[in-house]
Amino acid sequence: MKSPSYIGRFAPTPSGYLHFGSLVAALASYLDARSVGGLWLMRMEDLDPPREVPGAQTAILDTLERYGFEWDGERVNQSQRHDAYAQVINHWLSQGLAYACTCSRKQLEPFGGVYPGLCRDAGHGWENAAIRIRVPQLQYAFEDRVQGNFQQHLGREVGDFVIRRRDGLFAYQLAVVIDDAWQGITDVVRGADLLDSTPRQLYLQELLGIAPPRYLHVPLITQPDGNKLGKSYRSPPLPADQATPLLLRALRALGQPVDTQLRYGTPKEVLEWAIKRWDVALIPRASTLDEARIH
Ligand code: GLU
Ligand code: ZN
Repeated sequence: MKSPSYIGRFAPTPSGYLHFGSLVAALASYLDARSVGGLWLMRMEDLDPPREVPGAQTAILDTLERYGFEWDGERVNQSQRHDAYAQVINHWLSQGLAYACTCSRKQLEPFGGVYPGLCRDAGHGWENAAIRIRVPQLQYAFEDRVQGNFQQHLGREVGDFVIRRRDGLFAYQLAVVIDDAWQGITDVVRGADLLDSTPRQLYLQELLGIAPPRYLHVPLITQPDGNKLGKSYRSPPLPADQATPLLLRALRALGQPVDTQLRYGTPKEVLEWAIKRWDVALIPRASTLDEARIH
């Protein structure tokens, strides 16, 4: 079997249905993979059962299928990957790289989201505590294929961050790094709301000896009031009978060419057409895009 030089993925969180913003991210990652004959994998990021909307997993996958997307191989669910996450955390705990934190939200309020290291040397027990990873006083930088150079000083701008929550749930930052490596992902294409998560992920990759994938962050679609779609309110599923027009609209959001005749095409025909013309240089170099301004 040949080993593909491009492996992409779509990694939805079932805390809501697929909305227009997630369609744009899925489309970008799909076109980027298929335009070079790469694989496109599906990973359900179901790390947080209390926040999961019942039926959202099936609804997301159904919508993607109706919109013409085809993924390779079996879907991975992060809820089945807990052993892998726990193993890494235990290793870091035993090395003293990770530690237990018992700080309350209220205690951390004055620090504006940067953890000040209060529990670093406290030696708290690991049960019923959050687990944080020590970060160095260093800047982490990468070259995004659309957004250009992005950097963040982990010590000053983030602080030691949570990899397992107090309630025992594993953190997105940890799971995404472990699973992208495990699935052999070469290219991460996702929304720009995750740009400032990337330096944390680069750091965890460094600790694990993983070569970082290439990154491409597409503009986050916002509501006219500036809020991110889907997160602030519960969006309904994307309408099944609007697949072609919404795919065309997502293509316009990505700055890609659109032919008026495509209106009469099936979703798969639209995707096939767009795969041949996919051009990363046309993607708007912006971190957000107002939904009302996409035609
Ligand atoms: N599960 C994340 C989300 O839905 C995406 C994670 C990623 O693409 O790295 O926002
Ligand atoms: Zn603490």
